[in-house]
Amino acid sequence: MKKYLRLILEILLGICLVATATLAYWNFSSKKHLNEQVSELSQQIDEMKESMEKASEEAEAAKEVKPEPENSAIQEMEALKAAFANGIVLQDVETLYKAQKALSAERQVGLASLKLLTKGAQDEGTIAAYQKALEMAEWSNRLQTVCAAQNALAAAGQKVKVLSECKKSTDKDAESKDDSAKKDDKAHAVHWGYEGDNGPEHWGDAFPVCGKGKKQSPLNIIGPFEKSKETLSVDYKEGPLKMLNNGHTIQVNVEPGSSLTIGKESFDLLQFHFHRPSEEQIDGKNASMVAHFVHKSKEGKLAVIGVMLNEGKDSAAIKTLWANLPPKEGEEFLPAKVTFNPASMLPKDMGFYNYEGSLTTPPCTEGVQFYILKSPVDISKQQLAKFPFKLNARPVQSLNGRKITAGG
Ligand SMILES: [Zn+2]
Repeated sequence: MKKYLRLILEILLGICLVATATLAYWNFSSKKHLNEQVSELSQQIDEMKESMEKASEEAEAAKEVKPEPENSAIQEMEALKAAFANGIVLQDVETLYKAQKALSAERQVGLASLKLLTKGAQDEGTIAAYQKALEMAEWSNRLQTVCAAQNALAAAGQKVKVLSECKKSTDKDAESKDDSAKKDDKAHAVHWGYEGDNGPEHWGDAFPVCGKGKKQSPLNIIGPFEKSKETLSVDYKEGPLKMLNNGHTIQVNVEPGSSLTIGKESFDLLQFHFHRPSEEQIDGKNASMVAHFVHKSKEGKLAVIGVMLNEGKDSAAIKTLWANLPPKEGEEFLPAKVTFNPASMLPKDMGFYNYEGSLTTPPCTEGVQFYILKSPVDISKQQLAKFPFKLNARPVQSLNGRKITAGG
């Protein structure tokens, strides 16, 4: 698999940028489109020109241009999807390319494409979104491929320009029906939420894994349990408090340096965020809320620790967080001189339930290990009332034969 991966990647990436550039140019040159749409595209085109110029310059220097037969590309895409599903991440691609002395035009163009489409490719959400885009893409239709990538990245909170064609194809109905939905579309190219037409039962329309996946989260955690062989060891550090209201939850972004060790494998804590009520159930019961601590290993594996919050005493940790809630949606908020240690959110006892699941928000990417702590922590009624989302929990999903183990 590894042997062919390089070839596969370069073909995919090449096609991706060529498709994006072709589409953008087509849009740009078409007289039918409004000036507004043209100006929306112009920045993107400039960026692409720059990327492509750079790519062609470097390729010229490398003098290694091998045209690839296009019809084999579609077959290879399938293999690529499998490779991504097996844990290949975008960082691997860059590392792979950097190791090469002479790069073909395809590789250069492909790399530029990756960077273009996935600004901030270090971010787990972006990587998940790109994987999702690959799963969603119809390779025979380049417009769809580009739209899938752009919409998935936008849904993951990345600041990407979404072509108006892509918006129309996904949100046609919402736009014609409803003015308020139209406004929301500016913020989220693919609009999803927790109620009504955008609710979890409809996520599968735009994000097939949410609807068809067989290892989805959250779960109702119910015994009997086999004993887990894993051990969890948490080493979270105090750091500057950085909060974000992303329109779906309150998220606390964590500086590098806090980690989780599972067995011998190390994971970095990226962020934690909240759901009300808890997404997971224990014996069929939701807690008042849950905090999800999202970690990623160097290989790109994701592990989530879930801490249940039940109504009880005031939480000192929540007090600090809620005192610094972001004033508005969208931007990261850095209150001056406030520090926070994520460890202050954890219970003393780290006993857990473990299962393999997915992101609980679109694109619902699978392959995420969940460790839901058995011991809840307290949050007061007043603190619960202050959380700005009334309902932001996905309902429990089918177990589909998965094993839940208990450990710690
Ligand atoms: Zn979550």
